[in-house]
Amino acid sequence: MNTKYVFVTGGVASSLGKGIIAASLAKLLQARGLKVTIQKFDPYINIDPGTLNPYEHGECYVTEDGAETDLDLGHYERFLGVYTSKANNVTTGKIYNTVITKEREGAYLGKTVQIVPHITDEIKRRMLLLGKTGKFDVVITEVGGTVGDMESHPFLEAIRQLQWEMPDEDLLCIHLTLIPYLSAAKELKTKPTQHSVQMLQQSGVHPDIIVCRTEHALTPELRRKIALFCNVRPGHVIQALDAPSIYQVPLSMEDERLDVMVLEHFRIEGLPEPDFARLKDFLFRIANPLRSVNIALVGKYVELQDAYKSIQESFIHAGAANRCDVKVHCIHSEQIDDGNVAEKLNGMDGVLVAPGFGERGLKGKIIAIRYAREHGIPFFGICLGMQMAVVEFARDVLGIPEADTTEVSPNTPAPVIDLMEDQKSTTIKGGTMRLGAYVCRIVPDTLAHRIYGTETISERHRHRYELNNSYITRMEAAGMKVSGFNPDTGLVEIVEIPSHPFFIAVQFHPEFKSTPERPQPIFVEFVKAAMACHGDE
Ligand code: GLN
Repeated sequence: MNTKYVFVTGGVASSLGKGIIAASLAKLLQARGLKVTIQKFDPYINIDPGTLNPYEHGECYVTEDGAETDLDLGHYERFLGVYTSKANNVTTGKIYNTVITKEREGAYLGKTVQIVPHITDEIKRRMLLLGKTGKFDVVITEVGGTVGDMESHPFLEAIRQLQWEMPDEDLLCIHLTLIPYLSAAKELKTKPTQHSVQMLQQSGVHPDIIVCRTEHALTPELRRKIALFCNVRPGHVIQALDAPSIYQVPLSMEDERLDVMVLEHFRIEGLPEPDFARLKDFLFRIANPLRSVNIALVGKYVELQDAYKSIQESFIHAGAANRCDVKVHCIHSEQIDDGNVAEKLNGMDGVLVAPGFGERGLKGKIIAIRYAREHGIPFFGICLGMQMAVVEFARDVLGIPEADTTEVSPNTPAPVIDLMEDQKSTTIKGGTMRLGAYVCRIVPDTLAHRIYGTETISERHRHRYELNNSYITRMEAAGMKVSGFNPDTGLVEIVEIPSHPFFIAVQFHPEFKSTPERPQPIFVEFVKAAMACHGDE
């Protein structure tokens, strides 16, 4: 069988959940035994989102191989339970970078280098790249942005050419749109969808299936109307109703027979029916919690839900594992001070201090950590959250008031958190942090060991600064223990306070590897500790 390609475009509005639809389709096909991967093509000119502020584009998701990518790759991994890689996220920046580098090397000598064919050829090459590895039966490509955006044109042109070049049964286009509901008229409106599909067709791309995001069910008449005006087969207009959980969407798409339509189009027959017993059990656990806890998520990007996407999802997985409704309360670290910390953290059964960069909001993070440490509230620090836990401990317990990270105090006499040695000569900002999966050795008889139940783990990273090892002896003597470190470099990966009910902080990002079927162990145990703090255990 040839590798099959699915393209998912979006129209009418942004944030309709193309990534979730792409991931749901992938899940359906995977459940029938096909090998599926998903990739995202983003129209911006940054080489990757690593240099973007989370306010711009939400969380930056990190893959095993150290790529800084779009947060949709996190959904792909969580839905499929399969790792993605550098090759799964392509940006306009990467495309141009390749073409311009080749031009300088003389690859096009004598020729004018143009969007068509040179840029579109490079887009097509990358669109087919994962398929060429022979590892996948189906490659789903999500095209970022909204049809009609100037920036998406070269991507659509590349899809048009592929549609023209490849046999019909090897390529399929899905267009996701919004059917708005006008409450005054009590009516669902199809016109924006018609216009969006017209725009897509002006680019020469014709959708095979239209998926409609809607708050109300589509009637058969409405579906027929959309099919007629948008020139797709009757029956190929399906609805994506708002769902209580994103993990419900594969089942909703199964009800709409999305997988059946796709397999028919690809002329793939005889596959087994999907078995979603585990997914259904997970959804049952989310929908029927036996207790609840309140967790404070302290960070500086809390206005934007997507900024801590993987952390939020990890709490959903850990909540399901514990049959517990984890209510995550986002608290802005800039709004925490010594005077109001008790009030801000009132009723919280656990405190998580989030990753981050730069000085803004650091003071509030340190105050929240101190409060959790002194009041025996379960604490979990991630990356910058771990670094601030060390700064707080050094200042308050070791009695070094000037202790700091050199990220914000380059000349501090007590650099308890300092730039990693190999970062000192780094001037380029993009893609130069310590990124991706590294092994961590866990010290026996520690909380970390109890949590992971093993002495060797691997987690993903994204940082430039590290715990300064010359402070370890003093820290340990005063009650903060190193319980995980990199076996090759000695770099500290985990610290904990054994005298506290649950105080753990990690240099890595455990949130990137949590999935519904394999909830991340620190999150699971943190929620358990929060349940105990809540008085439920
Ligand atoms: N700013 C810190 C560093 O670069 C922490 C990074 C993070 O939280 N991801 O080391």
